[in-house]
Amino acid sequence: MSGPDPRRLIPRTDDLLALPEVVSARERLSDRVVRDVVGSAQTRARTGEIAPDAVAREVVTRLADRRSTGLRPVINATGVVVHTNLGRAPLSEAAVEALVAASGYVDVELDLVSGTRSTRGAATREALLRACPAAEEALVVGNGAAALVLATTALAAGKEVVVSRGELIEIGAGFRLTDLIASTGARLREVGTTNRTHLADYASAIGPDTGCLLKIHPSNFRVEGFTSAVGVAELRALADEHDVPLVADLGSGLLEPDPLIPDEPDAATTLRDGADIVTASGDKLLGGPQAGIVLGRADLVRRLATHPLARAVRADKLTLAALEATLDGGRVPVTQALHADADDLLRRTRALADAVSGAGREDVSGGARTAYDVVEHDGRVGGGGAPGVPLRGWALRLPEAAAARLRTGEPAVLPRVSDGACLVDLRCVPESDDARLAGAIRAALSAP
Ligand SMILES: *Cc1c(COP(=O)(O)O)cnc(C)c1O
Repeated sequence: MSGPDPRRLIPRTDDLLALPEVVSARERLSDRVVRDVVGSAQTRARTGEIAPDAVAREVVTRLADRRSTGLRPVINATGVVVHTNLGRAPLSEAAVEALVAASGYVDVELDLVSGTRSTRGAATREALLRACPAAEEALVVGNGAAALVLATTALAAGKEVVVSRGELIEIGAGFRLTDLIASTGARLREVGTTNRTHLADYASAIGPDTGCLLKIHPSNFRVEGFTSAVGVAELRALADEHDVPLVADLGSGLLEPDPLIPDEPDAATTLRDGADIVTASGDKLLGGPQAGIVLGRADLVRRLATHPLARAVRADKLTLAALEATLDGGRVPVTQALHADADDLLRRTRALADAVSGAGREDVSGGARTAYDVVEHDGRVGGGGAPGVPLRGWALRLPEAAAARLRTGEPAVLPRVSDGACLVDLRCVPESDDARLAGAIRAALSAP
């Protein structure tokens, strides 16, 4: 006979749940999550993967590592400012504070003085109107696509949306604005060709069935060569002549022109040029939370706001709070990254190169410390904005193999992989993260 079955030594569930560390973990994790962790440690002991006396330790470590969200913070070292796969705009401190403040009960639809119901998100609306005085009225919805859907539904359902063939874009992940507009019950009336559309093309398409004219900013691509397009100012006269609304979908959410990206349309100029309605995203160049922004003529924005669909696309209190703080707060991280000074980036990148030199595996055996090159590297606006505009800057060049280790390290870092190298660009890294980033790189370089 061999000794007693070691499996009988596996701690019992009740005993594991009574461990002080487990009791305190149950304050932040659900009973189900805690029991799953306990159960899987017991299973690993039963299958012999771990010893019975290691079960308690395993449970405690797993629970300590268990976060309340599977989303992991990532240091964006790609140089791409509005990175869609990384959640687009990082919020400003002011916006984060506002999010937290709005997370409990808030007066989002209540007038505290009279104790009666008030207009939802009134403060955010006022902040938008202050930030874009060219607009008479403003409305916030869930995202940019929702703003466009609401505009075309309220103005053109059962009618035609007249739009240039040069502007029928796919915005990413197979998502086409044409399909989106068609889903609203409006019919697309395409005019012109891919490279050239003239005022006469619009003019001949307008008729009793026209619901609105639509200009879409083809944000993520450029047609070069023999091209022509009709601007908002020219379309204004046509819209007046036929008394049809003129809608412009801008995408990026710039409220004012930015000389760094001169081809990127902004809300103020587009409204002054004569658009009745502009729609845009909150989390691209505006640098706020995911949101759709509608600005423009008071009667039309109200028509959108009172359409039944508005209820289905309305913004939640967290969005309203973060957007207001983005508009009224200081310079947002997106703007800082976009306008980062190349000399300053060079200084930080050189310091980073110093901090990680000699961290490579080959350095352990002694000899000269490995030095890593600082190379010129252009950042990008990203998020479908200003695709042709390089943002001059620098990157630290590491061996390509470092990229995967950086992504899976702690903190997680997303570098750019290009031409067989791993490039670390500091443009979108707050300077306060430089030391953490250096630590992550040293760990990635020395990993076996
Ligand atoms: C990004 C974009 C949209 C969609 O906005 P979301 O906020 O992603 O829904 C619509 N139109 C244009 C021109 C865009 O660039």
